[in-house]
Amino acid sequence: MADETVRKQNKKYGQELLHDPLLNKGTAFTDRERNEWGLHGLLPPRVTTIEDQVMRAMENYRAKPNDLEKYIFLDGLHDRNETLYYRLIIDHMEEMMPIVYTPTVGKACQEFGHLYRRGRGMFFSALDRGNIARFLRNWPADDVRVIVVTDGERILGLGDLGANGMGIPVGKLSLYSACAGIDPAKTLPITLDVGTNNRELLDDPLYLGIRRNRLRGDAYDDLVEEFVQAATARWPRVLIQFEDFANINSFRLLEKYRHRICAFNDDIQGTAAVALAGLYSALRITGGRLIDQRLLFLGAGGAGIGIGELIVSAMQVEGLSEDEARKRCWFVDSKGVVVKGRSDLQAHKLAFAHDMEPVSDFMTAIRELKPTGIIGVSGMPGSFNRETVQEMSRLNQRPMVFALSNPTSKAECTAEDAYRWSAGKAVFASGSPFAPVELEGKTLVPGQGNNAYIFPGLGLGVVVSQARHVTDEMFAAAARTLAFEVAESDLAMGRIYPSLARIREVSLEIAAAVARVAYDQGLAEAPEPEDIPARVREEMFEPVYKRLAL
Ligand code: NAD
Repeated sequence: MADETVRKQNKKYGQELLHDPLLNKGTAFTDRERNEWGLHGLLPPRVTTIEDQVMRAMENYRAKPNDLEKYIFLDGLHDRNETLYYRLIIDHMEEMMPIVYTPTVGKACQEFGHLYRRGRGMFFSALDRGNIARFLRNWPADDVRVIVVTDGERILGLGDLGANGMGIPVGKLSLYSACAGIDPAKTLPITLDVGTNNRELLDDPLYLGIRRNRLRGDAYDDLVEEFVQAATARWPRVLIQFEDFANINSFRLLEKYRHRICAFNDDIQGTAAVALAGLYSALRITGGRLIDQRLLFLGAGGAGIGIGELIVSAMQVEGLSEDEARKRCWFVDSKGVVVKGRSDLQAHKLAFAHDMEPVSDFMTAIRELKPTGIIGVSGMPGSFNRETVQEMSRLNQRPMVFALSNPTSKAECTAEDAYRWSAGKAVFASGSPFAPVELEGKTLVPGQGNNAYIFPGLGLGVVVSQARHVTDEMFAAAARTLAFEVAESDLAMGRIYPSLARIREVSLEIAAAVARVAYDQGLAEAPEPEDIPARVREEMFEPVYKRLAL
């Protein structure tokens, strides 16, 4: 079966074969393959194994002087040999995740126009209006199953990076393949370049996007609609993940498309699931039920409101009314606590606006609301300061302190600060990775509430079941499954997520749980297999060289 696939796909020969990253094996092409495919003379004589290649690549990788250079090295490898690229990442997941994704990918996006070497994925700009379907036919693969698309307006916590945002869909799709085994040949990163309002980029002679301010209003919506129609016409079974759109568009687009096509927004829904899973595991440390918590969010954007909504539905499953559940989630945005009296609230915040006198600062909000956990999704570094963490520790035996803003430079506080200021009492999670902290002879391991725990497995479940839509129940199932995968030994170290080294197993379980929901909800187009986990495993891409047969 695997050989068949390679045989059918491969029409390339000699030099051209070496330049196809999906087929290239470099020095690992066997003697027979070198004969059959015109490769003799084009490679050094010794035939090596993938293990030899991993050894060489790691030597090069570790010799790089900084993380951005490591990113550039991996990016180059991605362009040369995808099998080896994925072998390397999968074998060194904890070491490489921060390079392939946050925080290093943020730096790579900022430098995109300066680092650019070779195209990956597709760009459609505001100037391409009316031509997207035609241009989309330039993509060589006929079976694309997962698209990650951004318009670059809210890249991590770094703001509007315009066309430079392409690093994000590329990075996310690498994680789909590395963490859940989605076949890289079936993925497609896309950037909709609708302009940028970032003056620095517009003035940068090496910026690669169109030089205009952002498209807004109907013109913007029409471009997104044209893209969605073109993509789903060419690949009717494709899953579209909306990524790093600013919240002026993200909520609206999600509502518009989630019931029409197979789509989700990772910043809203994926984040929500990973945060909910973190809460479930944190409760195993702090004791108590989800419905007894009072949560205070700093930040009421896509991530915050998404988490709040999923918590509300999880609390309802545990017996609260919607109204009661909402009253356990409070939000502070840049103007203060989200309360009923405010006239400046955007639509997505209204359902969380409660009765309270206006309060403008976070510390007063903590004193008045007495939360059991604070969740930072504001992109404001340092906003969980000593005073707030100490107050949380005074109010709670084991306060939950989640500093989820990315990249690391935007985290509301560091792991070290949270542990020291709370004298080791805080149950801490962050969006970007932090190193373990030694405190009074104990090693505390901060959990990374990384969306990569959720979206790859969820995507795999959708691909396997060929779900028509992505539902809240799928995210809730993914969150429960993820929390279940956290071992007592993880919790003993304070870690509320499983080790990243186990991510493929975890993704398999999540994919099976999500596919189960798709079948139960009658949303699956694929016939139901007898053994869902076995079917999921069968679908997973493994980075091993397949024999190239004539
Ligand atoms: P967003 O732009 O939609 O929302 C940001 C929110 O923060 C807004 O409500 C804004 O009013 C609020 N804010 C800004 N300054 C503030 C201040 N000084 N005090 C209080 N509130 C303030 O962005 P988003 O998509 O919600 O993402 C927010 C952050 O969460 C980003 O840094 C992002 O990287 C991070 N994030 C993390 C994860 C994760 O860890 N798994 C996932 C998604 C997003």
